[in-house]
Amino acid sequence: MTYDRLVCANCAAPVTEGRCPVCRANRERLQQQNPLAALNPMTLIALLVVLIAAVALLAHQTA
Ligand SMILES: [Zn+2]
Repeated sequence: MTYDRLVCANCAAPVTEGRCPVCRANRERLQQQNPLAALNPMTLIALLVVLIAAVALLAHQTA
C-alpha cells in the first residue's frame, strides 16, 4: 500500500505528516486497513530483539 504518497485534500500536505485533523483521521483509517503499516520502526526493533533473544536462548539450551 502506497498511502505515504497520498496528498490531503484539506491541507495539500502528505497525509502521513498529519498536519491537519483530516490527515490524522485518514492516516489512522488507512493504518487500520493495513495492520503492517501501523508497525513503526520501534515495534519492529522490539520484535527483532525478542526474536534474537529467543534464538540465543534456544541455542544455549541445545549446546
Ligand atoms: Zn490534511
